Formats: sequence, C-alpha cells, structure tokens
Amino acid sequence: MFKTIIAAYDGSDHAQQALAVACDLTSKYGAALHIAHTPQVASETMMVGYSAVPLPPSAEELEKAGAEAMQKAVAIAREHGVDDVVTHVQPGDPGRAIVEYAKAENADLIVMGRRGLGDFGSLLVGSITHKVSQLAECAVLTVK
Ligand code: ATP
Ligand code: MG
Repeated sequence: MFKTIIAAYDGSDHAQQALAVACDLTSKYGAALHIAHTPQVASETMMVGYSAVPLPPSAEELEKAGAEAMQKAVAIAREHGVDDVVTHVQPGDPGRAIVEYAKAENADLIVMGRRGLGDFGSLLVGSITHKVSQLAECAVLTVK
C-alpha cells in the first residue's frame, strides 16, 4: 500500500514521534523512507533609524542548521530500525516544500506531527500541518 513515505521533521518532540511512526510503517510496508526538513534559522535584526529590520539568515547558516537537524533525524530513524533513509533539505516555505517534494517523489504518505516547534496551546494544529493536509495530493498522517 505505502511504497514511499515522507516524514516531515522540524526537530520538535512532535516530529520525533511522527518519525517513529513513519519508521514503523516503513518497516511494516517494506517502503522507502524519506525525511524532509526545511531549516528555519531565527533571523537577526539590524537597526535602521529607529526600526529593527530583520536580516535573512545566510545560506551557510541554513545549510548548517539543515545538516544538524538531519543528522539527528537519521539517528532517530536508526534507533527505530530504519537504516536506509533518503534525506531532503529544502529552504523556503516548509509547507510548500513538503507538498512539492511528496509530489516529485510520487510519495503515498506524508507523516508529520500535529504540532511542531511553535507550540501555541490555543491552536489545535500547527500552520504547516494545516497547509500540508489541505494541499497534499497523497495521504497525510498527523501524529499527536
Ligand atoms: P506554527 O509553526 O504554526 O507556529 P507548530 O510549530 O506547533 O505551529 P507546525 O509548524 O505546523 O506546528 O508543525 C507540525 C509538523 O509539521 C511538525 O511536527 C513537523 O512534522 C512538520 N514541520 C513543521 N515545520 C517543519 C519544517 N521546517 N521542516 C519540516 N517539517 C516541518
Ligand atoms: Mg512550526
């Protein structure tokens, strides 16, 4: 049923749990596991007159953050019995990146947390979960 599974990973506990579920399904279905991550580095600000203007993170900062997150994700996948993973780091908008990657890889399933690093208690699901659930062309499993 599931041949290609994409786990969306932002480094949060929620995403770690989702990755564990993705690993379980990967083993059960003999599927290929891809881990997708969009690095998000807090932007620094520069004062222009009296206003603080955000400076976008450099390509090096994004690359470093992406590589670190992926290293951790690959180690978690190993702990859950999946050694063979494809990693995909794509800067930009995380929701769009996940949906586009799933389409490009012809994925059957996206597994993601219901919340992520943001953790605003008042919202039921995070904005990336919301976006991917609406836009993905394949099945989406959100893990609580
Ligand atoms: P918000 O970001 O809207 O404040 P949140 O951080 O609690 O809320 P989401 O960002 O929607 O919630 O995160 C839900 C899930 O989406 C995460 O558990 C993860 O699976 C995936 N996700 C979120 N951000 C990224 C990212 N940058 N790269 C890859 N996957 C992500
Ligand atoms: Mg988030």
